[in-house]
Amino acid sequence: MPEMPEVETVRRTMIPLIKGKTIEKVILWYPKIVATDHEKFLSELPGKKIIDIDRYAKYLLIRLSDNLTIVSHLRMEGKYHLTTSDAPKDKHDHVEFIFTDGTALRYNDVRKFGRMQLILTGTERQTTGIGKLGYEPNSSEFTSEYLINGLKRKKKNIKNTLLDQSVVAGLGNIYVDEVLWRTKIHPLSQANKIPAEKVIELHDQINQIITEAIKLQGTTVHSFLNANGQVGGFQSKLQVYGHVGEPCPVCGTKFEKIKVNGRGTTFCPHCQVIYK
Ligand SMILES: [Zn+2]
Repeated sequence: MPEMPEVETVRRTMIPLIKGKTIEKVILWYPKIVATDHEKFLSELPGKKIIDIDRYAKYLLIRLSDNLTIVSHLRMEGKYHLTTSDAPKDKHDHVEFIFTDGTALRYNDVRKFGRMQLILTGTERQTTGIGKLGYEPNSSEFTSEYLINGLKRKKKNIKNTLLDQSVVAGLGNIYVDEVLWRTKIHPLSQANKIPAEKVIELHDQINQIITEAIKLQGTTVHSFLNANGQVGGFQSKLQVYGHVGEPCPVCGTKFEKIKVNGRGTTFCPHCQVIYK
């Protein structure tokens, strides 16, 4: 599943490919990808120009002229690729935006879980899942004070709390395991029992890891948009995720793997302290 740094990489890759282009026609091969009115999607988009692409957490916000935004969530396998309108259709291509210059942006999704919504720009927080999300790492709102207060309200475990997106938006399974190991917090620690000084560390490491990941994903942009590519440069930097049974680089104890609310979770049983 793409995590926030991967979605940011997609955003940065797509901007030079489609910014400034004007949509001539839209084809919905698999209409269910569009969660808002299909007729409106088909009739309102022709003639609109791509102004920019923003992102909130894992949502891409494709900004169009006339105050419209396509909110796109890739979910498990969604990806975009730029081609020409006469190129043969892949069986997993579900939506096509044909531009006036003859190129076409296609949305491809093997699992068909991704969704698009056409909304008025500025209504993102009311009309989509974005309203339920906490602040993003590295945003001005995401302060250590905010994280301390956010975790105070959470009685569930820290792993699940960071994954549920309501306190901090954009951390997925891989990055949560890495930040908890870096801060020596056991994934089953109760969120509201973690001492404030540890939460400050956690805050700093969340910002740090997202910065590193975005930087490294940025180096493998091209593998990302092609049909096979999901391998980002950060993969090689992972110290915990995917390393079950290997020695912890800090203490040498073998990493263990457990399930936390159904999600595979790797941790060091020696370094990571459980707060209860
Ligand atoms: Zn260790």
